[in-house]
Amino acid sequence: MKYKNRVRSRISNLKDPKNPGLRRNVLARNIDLGRIASMSAEEMASDELKQLRNVLTQEAIREHQMAKTGGTSTDLLQCSKCRKKNCTYNQVQTRSADEPMTTFVLCNECGNRWKFC
Ligand SMILES: [Zn+2]
Repeated sequence: MKYKNRVRSRISNLKDPKNPGLRRNVLARNIDLGRIASMSAEEMASDELKQLRNVLTQEAIREHQMAKTGGTSTDLLQCSKCRKKNCTYNQVQTRSADEPMTTFVLCNECGNRWKFC
């Protein structure tokens, strides 16, 4: 019950136009996506949240495809979760060409994913 209330308040925060920062955080995946994924259809009904869900789904698909295509194995990057150095990384140009590449890293030991610029 408490969890549900927390989700509700999170959604009203997301809808708040005076609070674009939170929405940005969600888009930047700084907030646990599992929480968003567990929202019911009713809770995700607003157009804005539908759009948000599409963005998140597309991002998930992109990451999934990235995982499939492999990437470059490295022992130079250390996983912050399991502390092992068995990672695969991909560099992606996410925005315009004059901006730095974003590096997506996947830990082959525990499946932890993160990214940095
Ligand atoms: Zn790991």
